[in-house]
Amino acid sequence: MIEPHGRKQLVDGRLTFGPKDFKEQLEAMPRLGIEPSYSHEAWNIATGVYTPLRGFMDMDEVETVADECFVPQGKKCVTWTLPVVLPIQPTGNKIREGWSYQLVEKTDPDKWGKLVGVVQTAYPWKPTKKWLRKTGKQIYGNIHNHPGYDEWLKLSRRTMIAGEISMFDPGYETAADPRRTRRIFESREWRTVTAFQIRNAPHRGHEYAMKAALNFTDGLFINPVLGPKKPGDFTDDAIMWANEMLVDQYMNQENVAFAPLHYTMRYAGPKEAIHHAIMRQNMGCSHIVIGRSHAEPGGAYGPYEAHEAFETIAGPDLKIQPIKLKAYHWCDLCEEITNEKTCPHPDQWRRQFSGTMIRKLISEGHTPPSWMMRREIAMHLIDQKEDIFVEKPKPKPRSEPSKKPMLAEVKK
Ligand SMILES: [Zn+2]
Repeated sequence: MIEPHGRKQLVDGRLTFGPKDFKEQLEAMPRLGIEPSYSHEAWNIATGVYTPLRGFMDMDEVETVADECFVPQGKKCVTWTLPVVLPIQPTGNKIREGWSYQLVEKTDPDKWGKLVGVVQTAYPWKPTKKWLRKTGKQIYGNIHNHPGYDEWLKLSRRTMIAGEISMFDPGYETAADPRRTRRIFESREWRTVTAFQIRNAPHRGHEYAMKAALNFTDGLFINPVLGPKKPGDFTDDAIMWANEMLVDQYMNQENVAFAPLHYTMRYAGPKEAIHHAIMRQNMGCSHIVIGRSHAEPGGAYGPYEAHEAFETIAGPDLKIQPIKLKAYHWCDLCEEITNEKTCPHPDQWRRQFSGTMIRKLISEGHTPPSWMMRREIAMHLIDQKEDIFVEKPKPKPRSEPSKKPMLAEVKK
């Protein structure tokens, strides 16, 4: 099976015991408040999704990532394209370099939430707006109306913590932990696996791309991304339902595995495509589907810039291979789903898959045409209408991954 990125073994920052067994040591550590989306980032480090990273980055590491797309690891440099940083909630106390701290979720300034882990030999740092602008421009390239860049600037004057971390098990039994996914691929004797990332309820274009990719490898790993979304987007639950339904009814389950990943999208286009590939290599995938406008916020990057990134940005140390697919459409003359590489017909015969159109139809209680979306999936979403869209204006609280076990475990 493919090695993890940048080292022979996955990083392991998981604590094998609970907070109660660790009481005395914890009492000696002051608390730092972090937002729940950052505890997902910390968990991704601890489980090895972000191998070779063992902790959150300091200022120098972010600069190297922004400027040169690598992160130093001992004597060598490893391809890395996006910063992984930890801002903490304002604290009245001075953060001392070299101390250990508890990481505690905090959404309310007056109330501490769940203890999630610890940071050892913490190193505090504070970015200025000027520094964020400079590094943000290097990371995101085209920064006009860029949601990822705008979020990056919000870190101005916030205290950040670098340092190695260890995390308590949050109980996401069904999430895409690299050790579990590798075990599953191995038990099925898959030597090659294609990762398919999806952030939506699947339409027929997604399904076609999944099945096209499965022709080239032993297995297909469908890996929906759950996390913060815009109002009007499908909720995490809706994305899980719809994809589970597709796998249950229209996929050969012997060749398909399914598990979600908690991850905050940065919309960094080509650089994010490399980051997505790194995460999937760590999960044990040999290939990843990169489609049109991968991780694109809308106009910041060319439609196939993410395809080129595997030659222009990634170093030879990145082992996972991209399966570069063109966007699919339905063609009235071909009478099938096809793409610009294979269909010779002009635009007037081509019907594009549109997530926006699908969401509009479903929110009005209409089923999209069957060439666009499987009728069962559309009907199921319509039946669940209350819970399928992220509400305005208050963001939906993060949802836990579905409790449904992964397919491999159902079959045992
Ligand atoms: Zn055609």
